Amino acid sequence: MEFKDLQEKDSAYIANTYSRFAAEIYSGQGATLCTEDGRRFIDFGSGIAVNSFGVNDEEWKKAVIAQLNKVQHASNLYYTRPQAELAELLCKKSGAKKVFFSNSGAEANECAIKTARKYSYDKYGEGRFHIVTLKNSFHGRTIATLSATGQDSMHKYFMPFLDGFSYAEPTFAGVKKECGDGTCAVMLELVQGESGVNALDEGEVRKIEKFCKERDILLIIDEVQTGNGRTGRLYAYQHYGIAPDIATTAKGLAGGLPLGATMFFDKTEKTLAAGDHGSTFGGNPAACAGALSILSRIDDKLLLEVQGKAAYLRTHLGRIRNVLSVSGLGLMIGLEISVNAREAAEKCLSRGLIVLTAKNKLRLLPPLTIGKGEMDEGLKILNEVLSE
Ligand SMILES: *Cc1c(COP(=O)(O)O)cnc(C)c1O
Repeated sequence: MEFKDLQEKDSAYIANTYSRFAAEIYSGQGATLCTEDGRRFIDFGSGIAVNSFGVNDEEWKKAVIAQLNKVQHASNLYYTRPQAELAELLCKKSGAKKVFFSNSGAEANECAIKTARKYSYDKYGEGRFHIVTLKNSFHGRTIATLSATGQDSMHKYFMPFLDGFSYAEPTFAGVKKECGDGTCAVMLELVQGESGVNALDEGEVRKIEKFCKERDILLIIDEVQTGNGRTGRLYAYQHYGIAPDIATTAKGLAGGLPLGATMFFDKTEKTLAAGDHGSTFGGNPAACAGALSILSRIDDKLLLEVQGKAAYLRTHLGRIRNVLSVSGLGLMIGLEISVNAREAAEKCLSRGLIVLTAKNKLRLLPPLTIGKGEMDEGLKILNEVLSE
């Protein structure tokens, strides 16, 4: 099928929710992607921080295929090994006590919201259900997670949204102002991804943590995008030296298969009881086998490599003409530029580089395993496009 036929079929039959870039992703190796007719792209996007180890990773494929050769799905009515083993590994690496598996970031956050409300209901009774999130946050596309998302542009058409959310400035004073007697949780992205790759200030976050602990307000950290090595630590909260009560993750967890995880720490490990929550697909054994392969290789050595690559890219990006600032943490990089971001991303694509946007910034999320040659090729194209 010619590319233009694919485009026609796609626009005839796929709902109009995406404005796609004009390229088919057909195959690839590592951080290099290909179209069917042989065009190559360096990948600074990882399918939005999903393909943690790039594409066609041998060990990951072997793990997933080995599971597919046994059983592809069992439902949560029965036991499967990859799920229990992955939960154990996640707990050991993160300090969490228990895990609930779902299929996406939105679902992981939905579970966090339900858990925070139940924790508070069990302990304080009705009425303590309010959750403070931040302005410019992004927590997902379901009605509850859209309600949690602090962007007016997302609060259209689908009314009524859920009661019980308010949006704070991203500072201690801002969060404190929104917290009242009815507040059960504060939910944060430590590096706001979709709204421009902005890292929160460490001092402010520590003050928020202390304030929450004093009032038994649960601290929920949304690590859907920042998690699984992306920032140079396994989870971004480890950079901040804070202890969440609930942490959620998804995107990069299973290296390209759909999997969400809600991690419960000391206070919340016993909050959900039988029947309180569930998912048909959640914790699918093939996805969990993939995640085990990824998570078991995100060790100190790999994290050091991620930090080294991040430093290398950041240094070189900062020198490119028309780059006004470089933001984010680790391999989650925002580029404030003096030209239109969507147009710059399209030009990059036409020259063989995939980059993402976040508001009017370019957003770079390369695979954690990207090679030096691939980084240099990508930097060269960015330099050409932005210097024009
Ligand atoms: C992507 C993202 C989500 C939503 O994840 P989905 O898998 O698309 O539902 C939630 N929170 C953050 C911080 C994200 O980056």
